[in-house]
Amino acid sequence: MSMQIQIDQLTFDESGLIPAIIQDATTGDVLMLGYMNQESLTKTLETKETWFFSRSRQTLWNKGATSGNRQTVQSIAFDCDVDSLLIQVDPQGPACHTGEPTCFYRDLFTNKNKSVNRNVVHDVTNKIKQRRENPVDGAYTTYLFNEGIDKVLKKVGEETSEVIIGAKNNDKQEVVWEIADLTYHTLVLMEMLGVSINDIKAELNERHIQKEGNQRE
Ligand code: AMP
Ligand code: ZN
Ligand code: ZN
Ligand code: ZN
Repeated sequence: MSMQIQIDQLTFDESGLIPAIIQDATTGDVLMLGYMNQESLTKTLETKETWFFSRSRQTLWNKGATSGNRQTVQSIAFDCDVDSLLIQVDPQGPACHTGEPTCFYRDLFTNKNKSVNRNVVHDVTNKIKQRRENPVDGAYTTYLFNEGIDKVLKKVGEETSEVIIGAKNNDKQEVVWEIADLTYHTLVLMEMLGVSINDIKAELNERHIQKEGNQRE
C-alpha cells in the first residue's frame, strides 16, 4: 500500500501541529505521543530521526538529543482523514523522560484477561542479550553461554522430545511447560547465531503472503 502524499496535504491543526504516535517497530509497543509541525516532520524525514514541536517550550526538539535515547525512523503512515501520523521507530533507549521504555506505563483501566504481557518474547530476548553481554554468576543463561552452542543444541533436542512426550500424554499443561522450555532455549540459540525474532517473523510473513496469493491452505 504505497499511497504517496505530500507533507502539505496533511491536516495540521490551528496551531500548525499534527499528532504523531510513536511505535516500536519491533515489538509494536506504543512508545509516546508527540506533536509535529511541518518543519519537525521535514527534519524527521531528512534525518530519519524523530523531531517534535514542544508545545510547552515552543521549540523544535530532536528526541534523544540530550538523553541519547534517539529514535531511528522505519516508517511513517498517516490515517484515513490525514490528521495524525503513526511512526515506527527503532528506539535507542527509553522513550519516556522517566526512564520507562514507553510513556504509557500506567493504567487508567485494564481488563484482567488482557494482563498477559504480549511482548514477553521480546523481553526474554533482551534479557538473554543482557546475560551474554554482562555475565551474571549463577544465572542459567550465563551458564549456557559459558557451555557454548553444543550444550544449547543438546537442550533444544531434549526439550523437543519433551514436547513430543507431553503431546503423546495428551497433557496440555505439560505441553505448555515444555514448549516454554523449548522456546527459551531456541531464543538462546538464536542469540548465539545472531538470528532475530524479526528474521523469523519476516520469513513467516513471506510464506503467509505467498499462501494467500496462491489461494491454498
Ligand atoms: P531527550 O529528547 O530524550 O533528550 O529529552 C530532552 C527533553 O525532552 C526532556 O527533558 C523532556 O523535557 C523532553 N522529553 C523527552 N522525552 C519525552 C517524552 N516522551 N514526552 C515528552 N517530553 C519528552
Ligand atoms: Zn484522523
Ligand atoms: Zn513520558
Ligand atoms: Zn523441558
